[in-house]
Amino acid sequence: MESSDDLNWPTQKGTLVINARNDGSVSTGILHAARILKEGGLVAFPTETVYGLGADALNGEAVARIFAVKGRPTDNPLIVHIDAVSHLKSLAVNIPSEAYALARRFWPGPLTLVLESARVVPPETTGGLDTVALRIPQHPVALELIRAAAVPVAGPSANLSGRPSPTTAQHVLDDLSGSIDAVLDGGPCEVGVESTVLDIRGGEPLLLRPGGVTREEISALLGRECRLPSWQDDSAAPPPSPGLKYTHYSPRAPLYLVNGHPAAVLARLQVLAQHYSERGKKVGLLISSENVGAVACEHMEVLGSRHDPAAQAVVLFAALRRFDEQGVDVILAEGYPEDGVGLAVMNRLRKAAGHRIIDVK
Ligand code: AMP
Ligand code: MG
Repeated sequence: MESSDDLNWPTQKGTLVINARNDGSVSTGILHAARILKEGGLVAFPTETVYGLGADALNGEAVARIFAVKGRPTDNPLIVHIDAVSHLKSLAVNIPSEAYALARRFWPGPLTLVLESARVVPPETTGGLDTVALRIPQHPVALELIRAAAVPVAGPSANLSGRPSPTTAQHVLDDLSGSIDAVLDGGPCEVGVESTVLDIRGGEPLLLRPGGVTREEISALLGRECRLPSWQDDSAAPPPSPGLKYTHYSPRAPLYLVNGHPAAVLARLQVLAQHYSERGKKVGLLISSENVGAVACEHMEVLGSRHDPAAQAVVLFAALRRFDEQGVDVILAEGYPEDGVGLAVMNRLRKAAGHRIIDVK
């Protein structure tokens, strides 16, 4: 591997920062990043959802480094990124025709398919499960990287485990500079929340994580409903996806999610904001553009329109990270309807809140 001295890219604590903006072609930077991946290194890369932390998915040692630098529990498997539908049959077996129909319609794009593993992908990547999660991302830099590396690329979100996912290269550096080899900076992500994860092994399709492709779109294509997991974290049974049992996306301050009838939500947010500020707490408010001004609060992040959850998803994680930068003591967040991408926005807000969810009528 060339040393960074041989190249003109800057470094942050030893992590190469490679500018890949507006570059749809195979640039020197992407080729260099691909070489790092092939040699067992870690490269963060932009996707349309969030930034991923890439390693050669077939190299167990490289993948183990992903878990180490993120502080991610090793039983939480990684999504494997590929660049063509034709790779499905080398990585998975017993692929149902519905999986191909979904791939044709939504790939490249924010949909991950969980399939029976062909056991080519090592247990470090799959968390020892007999399934494998696969997706073709849409971002041109991600696609060029996978193509140039010519290996499937394991890529969880490029944040410290438990922190909000990164939607810019700077977010990645804030969490991981010095502990990964490089980041490809492709500008801010377009979707802003992680991919939809769908178990499509046969039987009833199970929506393990809502994301950029909506439940409604999947059900319309398949001509039948896809089920949401009924698993609860006090259940004795293992969850259908290990990710369900972990709290994600948490800003440093506790976040209270107030959900229910819009007028009651605003009234409760107002009461809570007053309660905490009277006690000398620095309060952060996460509010829709329609309700700016309805609740008095010094530190406010506007999440966009209640009626445009896709636009809310784009800015959600950056807003949570800004609350951290402002050093707020408590975050109060408005709840939203769970239609379309709203299901993904509320899923991330619920995860950020942990058990601090207040239902009002
Ligand atoms: P992240 O890598 O942070 O985007 O998270 C990937 C998500 O996909 C986690 O919630 C994982 O638990 C889930 N996942 C990955 N592989 C599988 C699999 N084989 N079966 C079920 N869920 C999976
Ligand atoms: Mg993640």
